[in-house]
Formats: sequence, C-alpha cells, structure tokens
Amino acid sequence: MTRNVLQIRDGHGRRASYMRISVTDRCNLRCRYCMPREAEFIPHDKILSYEEIEQLIALSSDLGITKVRLTGGEPFVRRGFTDFLKRVHGNNPGLDLRVTTNGTLLRPLLDEVAAAGVQVLNISLDTLYPGRFQALTGLDAHAEVVGAIDGALAHGLRVKVNVVGLRGVNDDELGSFIRFASERPVDVRFIEFMPMGGCVAWSPEKLWPAEDIIEEAGHHADLEAVARSEGDQGPVRLFRLAGGLGRIGVISPMSNHFCGSCNRLRITSTGKLRTCLYSDREYRLRPILAHPRLSIEAVKQVILRAGRHKPLGYDILNHRLGGAVCSTHMSAIGG
Ligand code: SAM
Ligand code: SF4
Repeated sequence: MTRNVLQIRDGHGRRASYMRISVTDRCNLRCRYCMPREAEFIPHDKILSYEEIEQLIALSSDLGITKVRLTGGEPFVRRGFTDFLKRVHGNNPGLDLRVTTNGTLLRPLLDEVAAAGVQVLNISLDTLYPGRFQALTGLDAHAEVVGAIDGALAHGLRVKVNVVGLRGVNDDELGSFIRFASERPVDVRFIEFMPMGGCVAWSPEKLWPAEDIIEEAGHHADLEAVARSEGDQGPVRLFRLAGGLGRIGVISPMSNHFCGSCNRLRITSTGKLRTCLYSDREYRLRPILAHPRLSIEAVKQVILRAGRHKPLGYDILNHRLGGAVCSTHMSAIGG
C-alpha cells in the first residue's frame, strides 16, 4: 500500500523535509555564548514527554519529513535518551536520525548510540585547549569530548564538529582546528556567533565572519571548495584540505543567509513549532496532541499551515538591526 505523504510547502518555493527537535532545555555545560551561569530551567511537566515526541516524529513522516535531528539543551542529560533513540529508530527504520551533543556524556554510550541507528553525530567543541574549554563551558571535560569524537569515529559514525567562531576568543586556534580535521575523517564547521535571546556573551566585535575564516584558513592549508552538488551539505560551505582526512566548513547565519534553500522546522522542548530561527512566531502543538477530541490530523493541519507561512529569516533579521536573532535561548529552541 502506498502511503499518502503530504508536503510542507511555503510561499517561497521551499519544501520542509528536516525537523530539529529539542528534547530538553537542560544542560550540564554553561557555554558563555549560550546560557547564563545561573540558568533557570523549564519544569519537567512542561517538557514534551518521549511519547509525545515519538508521536510528532511519526506524524511528521506523513508530512514528508525524512530527517530528524534531536538536540537540546544537552540531549544526553535527559534520562532514558538512548532507549528513546532506539525506539525512534525501531519505529522509523528509514528515518535519517541525527543528534547534536556537547559530547561530554557520550563516550560510555557509544555502543548504544551506534546500535540505535544514529547516522550522524554533531559534536560541539569550541577550543582545543583544556583550560580554555573549562573557562568557556564551566566544566573540565575537554578530554571527554575529544575521546567521544574519536570513539564515535571508531564506531563507524559520521562526525561533524561544531565550533562557534568567536573573534578574540578562539580565532587563534584556526590552524590547530585545521590540523585536527586533517588528522581525522571529520567535518569541522565554524558557526558564526549569533546574538540569541538571553545570550550573555554577545558583543558585535566577537563576530568572526565566515569570509574572514575562509581567508584566514587559506594561510594554514590549501583549500578546495566542495561543490554543493556533492551530497547533503545544508547551509555549510565545505572545503577539502590538501593531504588531509577531514574537511573544514563555515556556517554563516549572520553574514550570508541561506534562507532561500532552508528546509527546516524546529520543535522546542515545550512542543512549540518554530518555522524559522529568526522568527519568534510559535505554534503550540502540545495542547492539540493532548486534547481528547482533537486528532493527530489536527496537528498535521497546524504544521502544514505553519509551514505555508515559513518566512524568509533574513527579512526579519534586517528589521532587527543591532537586536537579538530571536528572543529565546538557543538551548530552549534547539540549535
Ligand atoms: N548541547 C548540544 C551542543 O552543544 O551541541 C546541543 C544544543 S546546542 C544549543 C546546538 C548548537 O548551537 C551547538 O553547536 C552550539 O555551539 C550552538 N550555539 C549555541 N548558542 C549559539 C550562538 N549564540 N551562536 C551560534 N551558535 C550557537
Ligand atoms: Fe549546553 Fe550546548 Fe548550550 Fe553549550 S551550547 S550550554 S552544551 S546547550
């Protein structure tokens, strides 16, 4: 029997096929660019249950969502996360399932994560200096994260390393990160620092624009641009490193918008759908899921309608000059 798959299309010719779901707003780190040291967290009963997330994933596949990224906060701090991953994979064997993590809790769980059908892990690592890692994140866990990256590779997982590029903070490590990528089959991707809501560390001079990163990287290695047609790149611009195993890339949400080809939707940890990182417009899915007289079909209709109005984020950003990208923490939305 062929399944009737509807499609989430908007007025700008885009089709959403990728959903990022934040499974928790909690985290064991306090990255200075992401969370205040005295962060306040959402009470547990306001967070989507695993069962609700599983329902959302199942109904999204009827809407043409083929790729799901689970993120947070830190997904591995939520109890039962690896069992949840196994269930999601078991119920949706064809789904491209990915996780974004800070990597601090990952190493002992790698057997389970690999068995749970996760195909790609994005692991965040903003510095290769252990002392600087502790100063940036509040935890002495640098070795754990590097161990998790190497362990994930040894388990045959694809690994992307996310580095938030911070002028005056880690811009002196570009050469070291290029060496790191040369020695391992990983993509090291530099993400421009975004002024998110509640972001304590933002100042415009900390922005390290992607164009500068590419130019400066050219002083450390011969770069060969990877054609966009060579597979699933998303918003990243990738470069091979001459003689190296891995690649480097830049993601430029601030200086060079990729809104025209954006295929993402986000679901916050409280079950609100956001169609654009730059827009504060949210659609509350949880009350519909929980409502005794409303059906899964009603949730689908809200997602389809919301998707139709997915905006071009750079228009919003341009009207907010000097302001935050949006008014919510990255950890609550799911980066
Ligand atoms: N805790 C996990 C982690 O750190 O990978 C997943 C959640 S985190 C919010 C997802 C990604 O967002 C991370 O790569 C993080 O570095 C990035 N991020 C957080 N705040 C950011 C900001 N203000 N600008 C750019 N990237 C940011
Ligand atoms: Fe936690 Fe990730 Fe935010 Fe760092 S970036 S505080 S690891 S959620």
